[in-house]
Order: sequence, then structure tokens, then C-alpha cells
Amino acid sequence: MLSCRHIASRITQVFVANFRHAPAPQRLEIFRGAVAVADNGRIVRVVRADLNAFLKQLSPQVQIHDYRKEPQAFDPGRVDVHLHGPQFRNRYRFGRQADEELELLPWLKQLTFPEELRFASVRHAQNVYQKLLTELLRHGTTHALMYGTIHGEGTAELFQAVWQAGLHAFIGNVHMEQNADDACKLELPVEASLEISAELYERYHQKADRRLRLVIIPRFLPCVPPSSLDRLALFADERGLLKTSHISENPGEVAWVQELYPHQGTYTQIYADHGFLDARTIQAHAIYLDEKELKLIADSGAKIAHCPGSNTWLNSGVMPLTHYLDRGLSVGLGSDISGGSDISMPLVGRQAREAAKLYAALGRQWKRSEQAESRPLTPAEALYLQTLGGATCLGIEAETGSFEVGKFFNAIRIDFSKGNLQLVSDGDIESNFQRFDLAGDSRNVAAVYVNGQNVNLDPFGLVGV
Ligand SMILES: [Zn+2]
Repeated sequence: MLSCRHIASRITQVFVANFRHAPAPQRLEIFRGAVAVADNGRIVRVVRADLNAFLKQLSPQVQIHDYRKEPQAFDPGRVDVHLHGPQFRNRYRFGRQADEELELLPWLKQLTFPEELRFASVRHAQNVYQKLLTELLRHGTTHALMYGTIHGEGTAELFQAVWQAGLHAFIGNVHMEQNADDACKLELPVEASLEISAELYERYHQKADRRLRLVIIPRFLPCVPPSSLDRLALFADERGLLKTSHISENPGEVAWVQELYPHQGTYTQIYADHGFLDARTIQAHAIYLDEKELKLIADSGAKIAHCPGSNTWLNSGVMPLTHYLDRGLSVGLGSDISGGSDISMPLVGRQAREAAKLYAALGRQWKRSEQAESRPLTPAEALYLQTLGGATCLGIEAETGSFEVGKFFNAIRIDFSKGNLQLVSDGDIESNFQRFDLAGDSRNVAAVYVNGQNVNLDPFGLVGV
């Protein structure tokens, strides 16, 4: 007997093409076949053999999208686990003058916080967030964890833009109550900040098909004292929400935390003692950690958002990525707009590979510590971190990140005949995927699918595609 569930998940469309995914960190699979999708957007069959026999037995109502004769192939949609939405227009500059480059703390105070202050204006927020979502889609990001600002209505505009664009996102207003700026305009008492979170939770969390979810975000320890962390963690834990923050990103910041809270242990210990180090927490950067802190993170099940572009451009340091992976830590990749300037997750994957290569090379040259004994990141790992690894950090690995039965069809259709690849791509699919990883950009993203739907890459009519 067919249950309602079976009827609801009948095949409505089939994609026939080359597919690539990384179902495990060290496993990269490329196969020519078909992925069958049901009307609820979920994958119901992955066909790798006897393709023609499978296609022949489909009913005429099934839509077949056949790309076998095109220079195109499918990758999973990308997952960005760390991004600051309001900093979209703050990208590609690191000082007020053309010859100035600031590190994290002066960059925050002089450039970034003033930029975030502008999101008190709902109109400004709507304008910037629509641009951000357009760019995310054009680069194939289907899922993102995004910081808003302290503002309720401004952050609501980020939820709205994600909803209209058709992506999935974890979004939160940012909690900041001290040390933000001299005018205190970017600070709110924790009670007021939690009221905003509560309202966003009611308005957006688990709306319809769970594309919008609230995440609780204390900016970092200099802006949120440990006593307030307890209250934020309680709010999140009572509702089963994800929590995220920054940890040990930059030497100046780490020293400041020790100065602010001299008797409370390490950066990691403070988070652990106040509810922000567990399996539902994603901590960004995590560059300067001693062995004790690493063990604390590993034992807690907390996830790490690795942001290689930001770490480079704010002169923060190099995270020993493969050392962490080999210790079994769960890591995803973040563009960290706008500490990182590049929104493209394939490009962030390339940055992660470059950073790991340089770290391994320097470790060989200097042999300073156990952490310095590192190795390059493999291409399979780089793809995994952008897709299923990121999804695992967000707790949505059963929904997205690879082409497996039961997951939603969230995918990028890559066109190898465009942009930087136009004159170098050929009929060799393995080589084409490698080239895309190193030189692909938005011109190679022919289409993006979210929950089986081919989404509009210009949802707000901003770029005319
Ligand atoms: Zn950040």
C-alpha cells in the first residue's frame, strides 16, 4: 500500500548530467547519471548505472533536464557559515585612505562599526541586503549563517531579503553592550537586545518550510560580558537555537580579552563556562588556541568557522586548518564578509587551500610546534568544507550538502564554457572541476536550485540577468 508520504514524494523532475560532491571529507565523487527529485524538492533516486533503462520507465509527466551534451555539470549548493550581512558594502577596503590597511580592532572601530550604525535606517538595510542576496545567489550560495546588526527592524530586512531571494539562512541580531564605540550608539543592554531576538524568533523562525532560522549572536567577548552570555545561551538553549560568536581571531583582540577578564581563564574557557561552547555553537576564526583549548573545543562538539580570506587581509594570522581536521574538529568555511572581501565560496575554498599550503610549508621550514606540523588541504576536503562540512556545522547535514536520497536538491549548475574557464576548459570533466575550483566565478554559475526549484538569480532586478 502506498502511504501519503510516498505519493507526496513522487518524481516530478530528473536532472541528467555529470555530478560532483564530497560525501565525506576525503571522498570526492564525480559520476555521470541522474538525480530524481520529488515535488517536495527532495532527492528520491540517484542513478549511476543503467541510466537509459531508468529514463525509459519514467512517466511522460516527469520533466527531464538533460545536460549531457552541454559543457555543464552539477555541484552541491554552497554553505557559508560566517558572514556579516551589513558589511556587504564595506568590502575591498581596509582603511579610510587609499594607502591605509588596518588590523581587526582599529578596522572595527574606524570602518566597520560606523558602517553598521547606518542599519538603524530600514531603507538602507533593505537596499544593502537585497544587493547582498543577489551576490550570494549569483555565486551559488544556498545556505548561510549571517550576522545582522543590533537593530531589530534592520535585521528583519535581512530575513525578508533571504525569504524573497529563496535561500536558506540562519540570521541573528548582534548583541553588543559595551566597547563598541565612544558614542554608544551601537550598544544595547542585554534585556533590550533579547527582546529583539524574541520578536525575530516569533516573526521568522521556522516560517513555512524552515528556510529562515534565528541564531543567537554575541559579537565577541570585548562587547558582551560573560554574565550576559549566560542569558543569551539560556534564550537559545530553551528554543533549540544555534549560537555563534568570534574566538581568538587576532593577537590584539586576545590580549584585550585577557585584560578585560583577567581571572576567568582563557578565551575558550570563558565561552565554555557561559554556554557558548557546545554542539550547537559555531565559533569563528579560532586561530590562537593552545592544546588545552583545542581539547575543550573537541570535547564540547563545538564547530569552527574558518575564514581564510579575512584572516589574511586583517593580518590576523593563519588557522592551522588541517591540524584541527586531523584532530577531528568539525569545521566549515566562512567568507566573513567584510573581513574577507570575496563572497564566492569556491574562492574561499581556494583561499583555504592556499593558506593550508603556506602553513604546511612554513611548518616544514621552521618546525616550531606540533600545530606547525601541518599538511595541505586536499581538493576533496576543500569541497567538503564548502558543502557538507558547512552543513554539518549548522546541523543541517541531513537536508543538504551532497546528492543523496532524502536530502533537498540544492545545487549549482556550473557552465565550464564561460569566464576564466572559456579558453581552457575541455571535454575532461575531472579537469574542468579542478579549474572551476581555482578560477571559477559567478559567470560559471548558470543556475542555482534550492529545494528543487531553479531560483531567479536576479530576484530584486538589480543586475539584469
Ligand atoms: Zn566575523
